[in-house]
Amino acid sequence: MIETPYYLIDKAGLLKNLEKIAYVRDRSGAKALLALKCFATWSVFDFMRDYMDGTTSSSLNEVRLGNERFGKETHAYSVAYSDYEIDEVVSHADKIIFNSISQLERFGEKASGIIRGLRLNPQISSSSFDLADPARPFSRLGEWDVSKVEKVMDRISGFMIHNNCENADFSLFDRMLSQIEDTFGSLLKQADWVSLGGGIHFTGEGYPLDLFADRLKAFAETYGVQVYLEPGEAAITNSTTLETTVLDTLYNGKHLAIVDASIEAHMLDLLIYRESAKVQPNQGPHHYMICGKSCLAGDIFGEFDFPDKLKIGDRVSMQDAAGYTMVKKNWFNGVKMPAIALKELDGSVTIAREFSYQDFEQSLS
Ligand SMILES: *Cc1c(COP(=O)(O)O)cnc(C)c1O
Repeated sequence: MIETPYYLIDKAGLLKNLEKIAYVRDRSGAKALLALKCFATWSVFDFMRDYMDGTTSSSLNEVRLGNERFGKETHAYSVAYSDYEIDEVVSHADKIIFNSISQLERFGEKASGIIRGLRLNPQISSSSFDLADPARPFSRLGEWDVSKVEKVMDRISGFMIHNNCENADFSLFDRMLSQIEDTFGSLLKQADWVSLGGGIHFTGEGYPLDLFADRLKAFAETYGVQVYLEPGEAAITNSTTLETTVLDTLYNGKHLAIVDASIEAHMLDLLIYRESAKVQPNQGPHHYMICGKSCLAGDIFGEFDFPDKLKIGDRVSMQDAAGYTMVKKNWFNGVKMPAIALKELDGSVTIAREFSYQDFEQSLS
């Protein structure tokens, strides 16, 4: 028995996504890079490596992790690099994508030994959250003026365009890609490679994988480019749970159950986007508000239905706890950091990492 709280990564769940990614790669010729900002739990990289082509990153730390722990192709990207990190970034990457022309002008020479590219901002996106919308007004994420980009084409060989966000709608992806072709077609014709970013939820149930792959292939043929995808969430969706135990129950006008984890510390993304956690099957006559154990008043995972009354010691599993969770976990309130456990394909469970008081202490000085 592993003590809660812990994140449980189920390799069988992961495999379902990876097989779809591999299918799209095969059928379309596109390459798939894991976006480390979404998921960087490297103990499963050995398992993921055969199905993907490498990693993409948003910082020096991530590009180094990608290079050292995942290997294969390693793309570097950052909203802005510092003088003191650029050499090390270049040493870990085989491609660097600058966010702006001014960063390209500043660091392009230092990166002339590897492939260089630029982020384009098509000013359209599928995001329903202003906070996460790369095409929001005044966005700093990428260049959009074709005439300005034309002037630096001698220094770059490709582009990254990331404007899908939790987009499970193939026709919306297709329409936006057509708009991108209309806007940037003249630039795309001069490119050797184009990364279409992440945010395309093509590993979800019922996504038309063949239409998607064929669209990517047609795009690649039209412009003569190697296409890349940068799945984060799509690679790990529905693979992981946060396993918690009920520590206390109360009735304060609603039935409350306090668990040994915290939404703020362990599933922060849900709090930021004001979304509820998921508990399955979420059925039965007993309705509870599941609360975290930090002292934040709004540390609440959500309200769910259970088949039986909850008692102290019962297990509550929060679903879909891989993407943007482990990468954002923090030591708020000093709440015990969930361990990371792996469920192998044969069903056996092993602990990959546990966290101690020393880790808490060492996170500050
Ligand atoms: C966030 C991000 C990704 C991954 O997005 P998901 O929604 O997790 O698939 C890929 N590429 C870039 C540039 C990103 O910013």
